[in-house]
Amino acid sequence: MTNLESLLSPLTFLGNLIEDQNQLTPLKEYESWWRAEGMTISEAVDRAGTPWLRMFDQFGRRVDEILFPPDYWKMLKRGYQAGVIWRPFANDSGASLRMHYLIDYVTCFFDAGLGCPYIVSMSTAVPLKKYGAPELQARFLPHLLRRDESVWQGATWMTEAKGGSDLGANVETTARHAGDHWILNGDKYFASNVGAELAIIAARPEGAPQTPQGLALFLVPRYRDDAERGTNSTVREGSSRPDGQLNYFIRRIKNKIGTRSVPTGEVELRDSEAYLLGRQEWGIYLILESLNLSRVGNIVGSVALAQRALADALTFAERRVAFGRAIIEHPLLRRQFDERFEQLLHARALMWEAIRLLDEVWQETPRYSDRYHLFRLVAHLAKYWTAELAVQFAKWGMEVHGGMGVLAEYSAERWLREAMILPIWEGTPHRQMLDGLEVMERKRAHQMLFDHLAPHAHANDLQNISFRIEQHLQLSVEEKEAGIEGIFHDLATFTARTLARKYALMSEPPAVGRG
Ligand SMILES: Cc1cc2nc3c(=O)[nH]c(=O)nc-3n(C[C@H](O)[C@H](O)[C@H](O)COP(=O)(O)OP(=O)(O)OC[C@H]3O[C@@H](n4cnc5c(N)ncnc54)[C@H](O)[C@@H]3O)c2cc1C
Repeated sequence: MTNLESLLSPLTFLGNLIEDQNQLTPLKEYESWWRAEGMTISEAVDRAGTPWLRMFDQFGRRVDEILFPPDYWKMLKRGYQAGVIWRPFANDSGASLRMHYLIDYVTCFFDAGLGCPYIVSMSTAVPLKKYGAPELQARFLPHLLRRDESVWQGATWMTEAKGGSDLGANVETTARHAGDHWILNGDKYFASNVGAELAIIAARPEGAPQTPQGLALFLVPRYRDDAERGTNSTVREGSSRPDGQLNYFIRRIKNKIGTRSVPTGEVELRDSEAYLLGRQEWGIYLILESLNLSRVGNIVGSVALAQRALADALTFAERRVAFGRAIIEHPLLRRQFDERFEQLLHARALMWEAIRLLDEVWQETPRYSDRYHLFRLVAHLAKYWTAELAVQFAKWGMEVHGGMGVLAEYSAERWLREAMILPIWEGTPHRQMLDGLEVMERKRAHQMLFDHLAPHAHANDLQNISFRIEQHLQLSVEEKEAGIEGIFHDLATFTARTLARKYALMSEPPAVGRG
């Protein structure tokens, strides 16, 4: 099998990372579905642009329905049926998130935006499972774990209009205790997978300080609890979704440059019924835990998108002729392909390590182990490095397509539009660097990372980067922040290269050009 073939299929490229052969059958079926049906649907959804919001039905009742073409729902539900949420929960003892991320990888190779609903649904299911009161779990979790089209979706809404990086200062949504539940009021400015049946939402309980520690995490259903309270509604036949009143409102759907397979909206919480997850004072930890899950999802989406951009560029370069031969045969382009293939192998290793470490620690609760802090550093490095890689690969892929690359009728421009969001959501590059710096300073996570990498690293390289990090940590606060980018980038590159060696995945460079 040539390396070119390995690039064209997400599963072939992941190759021996998928250790459990039982996982391969559903994954292969899922990839086949994408080739047979999903790719056409995905392209049409992207072309159709922002979906419509129907706020009222014809009789004036507020409904807030999102109007996608019917095929969208088929594409969306296919991943849930494949097991992106239910599979990790099917075997409670030793539950592993790997299958979630593998399905996500295949999804994002074909449609990077569609990874988002799956990721945020998982980021809703996990805190509900870990921190929800037993009656809350019994009431809501089975809906998220359904294996058919009636599955419920989740969402994670923290950011408000004044800013997402500094949540501690900027969350103005309030929470008031009201017996067995809470009442939320406020607006969420970036709400992806809007329309989801359940969302986890950051809010500030009355009287709590205007700091990160003042935040708590709540579960908010799309519909009010009317059905069960017997005030105002019925349960639709064949559905466990109460035909009740809306519990949150969608003000509008954002018009985005990409990721059109996930609707992002503005949400209004107006006396919305909510349920506290975990202890109130643990809120910020729970928010960060859910961010861990989606951050790894972002890493997966970035590597899958980078693979796709490279695969499409290669396919084009093999057939486009200039100066008497396929452009791939020209030494400069050939070298560029070789280098990018190698970088992609590094990115794959970094991604896999982030998934494996998360798998070890995702069930922890505060106070966390050292392993958890090691995971955090790896996740910050990987999110920062792979998102940038995806943007660079998508941009370069356009260039390989020449003028065709910028035409909306082909796919190369789409990958760049999709890629542009990857560095921003789940925390900007600045956030990754500064949070990475914090975990090195406060938990000495770099030491754990170096111990972790030592068996696979070249001793001189390890010594060199270790020395540079320690030197950097001696600087003043101002200098440390101002100068973090160069060293953080080098640490990420070193980590990725070393991990690629660990997995012995750096096979021969791509056989560019067939034969
Ligand atoms: C399409 C889309 C979907 C989204 N979906 C969701 C969602 O579902 N749920 C959700 O909660 N959020 C969502 N977000 C919000 C996203 O997480 C935020 O955009 C992101 O966290 C950055 O916040 P901000 O846009 O408010 O920028 P700001 O926080 O205002 O930051 C502006 C700039 O300042 C930089 N900056 C801030 N502080 C520092 C510092 N100390 N040092 C250096 N630079 C700094 C930032 O890195 C950034 O470059 C979504 C965003 C987009 C674009």
